[in-house]
Amino acid sequence: MAKRRRVLALFSGTLISGLVLSGCLGNPPNRDGTSAGSASTPIPVASNANLEVKTISLGYIPILEAAPLVIGVHKGFFARHGLEVNLSKQSSWGSARDNLVLGAAGGGIDGGQWQLPMPQMISEGAITNGKKVPMVILAMLMSQGNGIAASNTVKDGNLTVDLKTSSPGFFDKFSQKQGRKFKAAYTFPKANQEIWIRYWLAAGGVNPDQAVELLKVPAPETLQGMRNGTMEAFSTGDPWPTRIAKDDIGFLAATTAQIWKSHPEEYLAVRSEWVDKHPKSAVALLKGLIEAQIWLDKPENKDEAATILSSRKWFNVPLPVLQAALKGQYKLGASGTPETNPAMGPLYWNSDRGVISYPYKSLTLWFLIESIRWKFFPGTVETVAQAKAINDKVTREDLWRQAAEEVGVPAKDIPTGSSRGKETFFDGVVYDPENPQAYLNSLKIKK
Ligand code: CA
Repeated sequence: MAKRRRVLALFSGTLISGLVLSGCLGNPPNRDGTSAGSASTPIPVASNANLEVKTISLGYIPILEAAPLVIGVHKGFFARHGLEVNLSKQSSWGSARDNLVLGAAGGGIDGGQWQLPMPQMISEGAITNGKKVPMVILAMLMSQGNGIAASNTVKDGNLTVDLKTSSPGFFDKFSQKQGRKFKAAYTFPKANQEIWIRYWLAAGGVNPDQAVELLKVPAPETLQGMRNGTMEAFSTGDPWPTRIAKDDIGFLAATTAQIWKSHPEEYLAVRSEWVDKHPKSAVALLKGLIEAQIWLDKPENKDEAATILSSRKWFNVPLPVLQAALKGQYKLGASGTPETNPAMGPLYWNSDRGVISYPYKSLTLWFLIESIRWKFFPGTVETVAQAKAINDKVTREDLWRQAAEEVGVPAKDIPTGSSRGKETFFDGVVYDPENPQAYLNSLKIKK
């Protein structure tokens, strides 16, 4: 208590009423990660001194990956550090990219939530008609919480994470019977969603460039599309797979957590120009994010998080869908076997591989290695050396470490290096970041 009074005294001269609304902030974590007291206790502004700029415009897509940004704004974690985050919903990944190219000064955004390797490829001009807009990857927003949903029309295929055992010959039989290929969709090409579906198929001995048709479907059309046969499978983040299962349109064939436990998913990335000009503000952004992620990961906060996210202001999605998804309550496989395992659900802070939020270069690099595997960006990323050079420019770990130290993350939870070490997938394939070429060579199906 003595320490707390001292903190209040220290900041009492600089309290800004708008940032210290009692009650609305809830319980932001203390320096030790514990709750800072009752919701009615006024929370001091932790630090707002000397920020180069006090606002940032970020974009988000209404899926679980955006939760740390939404919670950071809604519960005042960013404001606590003197930064006002203007968070705007993006109608699609393509619009987010276009708004990033515009920048906040041009009516767009400074950064936000991204599938990888979007920030690397925007930096290289590979998905922006050649216009290079350098970006910085600052933190991972979430791990797991994604999946591959399949339509009830293919229930007899018994699709699971391991297609080799559950569904041998299924995709060829489907083509023969239907006179067309099985269709698998995502909402943005050449990034996480497509990479997960390709990994899953190829691990099952199915060549995604031959045995199926891969297509892009706009997010609002996904539920209807699965109903009317636009596609048989869909790779995405929750709430969509849970919603498809809940509405009995389809089932969850595989979760990304089954494919690769504690895998890298989506990231916070911002224009380099903004970070270079405003390094202190970038650290403030990361401090609020880290606190939001710690808060989100606590089981006792899941219901409150679901309530906030489900509101019209944010996701506008039925509350039970988000409650189930946030708690890792899935109905798996064609039989819809209920399973509750938070360790296999979305992770925001802790994992069996340490802190999720830290932007390990070894993990952000993997998406470029997969891009080589599938020849996504010819002329830009064709070799491991090119991938490493691009990734080293775009992924930045030092600001995260500074922010973590300043909000009191224990030293044991702050990684010191750039590699999380070897990664093992469900099919036994190993990605050793020290030797990505060996990983590429080991993959039987590639383009
Ligand atoms: Ca995702």
